[in-house]
Amino acid sequence: MIQAPRGTFDVLPEDHARRAVIEAHTSRILGAAGYRRIETPAFEATELFARGVGEATDIVQKEMYTFDDGGGRSLTLRPEGTAPVCRAYVEHGMHKLPQPVRLWYLSSFFRSEAPQKGRYRQFWQVGAEAIGAEGPDTDAELIVLLAELLEALAVRDVTLKISSLGNPETRAQYRAELARYLHQHEDALAPEVRARIDLNPLRAFDSTDATTRATMEDAPKLLDRLSAEDAEHFEAVKALLDDAGIAYQLDPALVRGLDYYTRTVFEFSSTALGAQSGVGGGGRYDRLIEQLDGPPTAGCGWAAGIERMLLAATDLPTAAHTVDLFVARVPTASSDRAFAISTQARRAGLSAQLELAGRSLKGQLKHADRIGARYVAIVQDAGIALKNMESGDQQELDTAAVIPTILRGSRLA
Ligand code: ATP
Ligand code: MG
Repeated sequence: MIQAPRGTFDVLPEDHARRAVIEAHTSRILGAAGYRRIETPAFEATELFARGVGEATDIVQKEMYTFDDGGGRSLTLRPEGTAPVCRAYVEHGMHKLPQPVRLWYLSSFFRSEAPQKGRYRQFWQVGAEAIGAEGPDTDAELIVLLAELLEALAVRDVTLKISSLGNPETRAQYRAELARYLHQHEDALAPEVRARIDLNPLRAFDSTDATTRATMEDAPKLLDRLSAEDAEHFEAVKALLDDAGIAYQLDPALVRGLDYYTRTVFEFSSTALGAQSGVGGGGRYDRLIEQLDGPPTAGCGWAAGIERMLLAATDLPTAAHTVDLFVARVPTASSDRAFAISTQARRAGLSAQLELAGRSLKGQLKHADRIGARYVAIVQDAGIALKNMESGDQQELDTAAVIPTILRGSRLA
């Protein structure tokens, strides 16, 4: 039997209802702040991610689905949304539009990872990007919007961590300083941390080893090494969050997946999720558009995982789905008349379903009840019996009177 590939899943109709709620909240919250929806291709030139996510990242090193298009060109299923959106910004000359250009997306992404709860090979993200504004109010706006989305979805036990990565130059100096510190304390470090001091010293902050953690308490922190402008930018972001009543923790060890993050980085997580606790995160990427051969352009954005939000959300209410009319028929009656009534009812703005399964009349009425139909039109050899399922009343009508009768009833209801 052929099954869905490992790490993928079907979104069945009953699952889709909860996703539709997320989409509606996203569209409302981001739309109200001037963000407009964008959709980019499911695959891109591999080079876009190599340059736009960074050669040294886990995503590019280990997680991409890359293939040859048959003509010698390397393509990759998109593992994230920021680089494609920035590519589109450059390609369509969006720097000529009033800035910032505020965009959002809700799309599926692909990463070759070990599947587990909350971690899939094809998953969905909602994301927002504000491109062309460098002020701290942009960062704060984006963080507030994600906080509002998570609150609207009643995502449980959410905490927000923020930090600043400064700029690539101070970061490089800091990395060297941190590596020196780690070399001085090599004996107190776990072997896997020791092995990566020069490769990726920042990872030492993620270690779960007790003596390593104790050593890292006293390690130099990037937040203490920021340039004056970067420190001022970060202070302003924090002040705006304070004013907006958004609680956060400073996490000097917060490292984000992209190479080109500058200044603000943030991450929302939920303890309701267990091991894969990240719900969504993002940051500022002021060097990224240049990396993609665009004009120097500041940018900031975030992405949040739909499956993780679904896992951590308290019962998402789903809109009740109404069926105004179910069109049944006695076995000897014309199926063309039944078909015509269902079509006309929908043209008149009603929701109407037609019996297609060849059930007995009793079975059809049972089915109408099961789907919650308000009316059942039973097409007879001549005329129609219209049954009001709420009151149980039944009346004999000419075919032409069926829809006006339901519409009148709907107006009275
Ligand atoms: P993680 O630490 O869980 O690997 P990440 O840092 O790789 O997360 P981002 O690239 O920041 O995640 O993506 C933003 C969000 O997308 C994550 O917070 C998470 O909710 C979701 N996400 C990332 N990878 C996956 C995946 N493989 N399956 C499901 N959701 C994912
Ligand atoms: Mg990851």
